[in-house]
Amino acid sequence: MVNRDRLLSEFLELVQIDSVSGRERKVCDLLKKRLGSLGLQVVEDDAGGTGALAAGNIVARLAATADGPHLLFCAHMDTVEPGEGIKPVVGEDGVVRSRGETILAADDKAGIAAIMEALRTICEQKIEHGEITVAFTICEETGLLGAKRLAPSVKADFGFVLDSTGPPGGVVVRAPSQDKITATIYGKAAHAGVDPEKGINAIYVAAQAIAAMKLGRIDPETTANIGIISGGKATNIVPDCVYLEGEVRSLANKRRAENTDRICRTIEETARKAKARAEIKVDLLYEGFGFQKEAPVIELVRRAMRRRGIEAVLNQSGGGSDANVLNARGIPTVNLSTGMENVHTTDEQIAVTDIVTTAQIVLELVLCARGEE
Ligand code: ZN
Ligand code: CA
Repeated sequence: MVNRDRLLSEFLELVQIDSVSGRERKVCDLLKKRLGSLGLQVVEDDAGGTGALAAGNIVARLAATADGPHLLFCAHMDTVEPGEGIKPVVGEDGVVRSRGETILAADDKAGIAAIMEALRTICEQKIEHGEITVAFTICEETGLLGAKRLAPSVKADFGFVLDSTGPPGGVVVRAPSQDKITATIYGKAAHAGVDPEKGINAIYVAAQAIAAMKLGRIDPETTANIGIISGGKATNIVPDCVYLEGEVRSLANKRRAENTDRICRTIEETARKAKARAEIKVDLLYEGFGFQKEAPVIELVRRAMRRRGIEAVLNQSGGGSDANVLNARGIPTVNLSTGMENVHTTDEQIAVTDIVTTAQIVLELVLCARGEE
């Protein structure tokens, strides 16, 4: 039902418009124009920075022509680096790759192209539909920043983020929450050779604290890591300061909080015993989500995919996406696979048939939702 050639050419066009996080201006302008000419009511919010190439999130609405739940489709406009001057190549095997010096940006322009093609098909074929909202976000890759600043007026009954790897049919129905922990341990400087007993070695305190922590895979749902450590100026100075950064993720909010607490207490107590001092900060980067197998949003996805002969595969994710933010705002949202592979590398690729299937799934979601309440 969707137009393969039109979809492919729009995808290839989109990936060639540079839009590294924070510099989404050009792709934002193009998409606003296209959504507007399809008859959607388009707003760009002020979530973005002030740079010349910065942009806000796009929120576009297509008023209902039939009864049914209000659906939200979301994909992000920004890309990771190296994402400038992308030259896509469609291989004989029907797979799109970059020329090798850059990413491809199927993450997440395959999602955007699929949504755009589904909208075009709906408008062109005058397909009846319930209310549809489209959100194209900025700065997903730098911490879901665009989604976090979406206007509270963005509402829907069900949300679908198109930003997951793996073949179409994959549905992320569970994702962790994440805490970021930053800590500075203050000891006391002294000459390491002349009077080391006057010093308090912050590196030693940090080492003791880290050695006492349980890190890595804590349980099947929870992971913890210290990923950054820096401090010290010279071998002849007892170091007075060490900086640490770490994270805790868990599919269970309670386990996340417990393990974050444990890490913070370990740092505090180790510092206290050594007469050092610790300043610790915890930021909840995003909340987790999890759906039961029979949740209405999953039922809808299953029915839509079955119409295309695809059996939904329910997955859990190890990281956050815009779906975490939308769920935290009360919109039941899953993250759908688009077919993209090897994302965030110069080997990123996607099969043309997978982009087409993804667009068809978007369209089927709209069709299946009609007449439901
Ligand atoms: Zn992505
Ligand atoms: Ca990504």
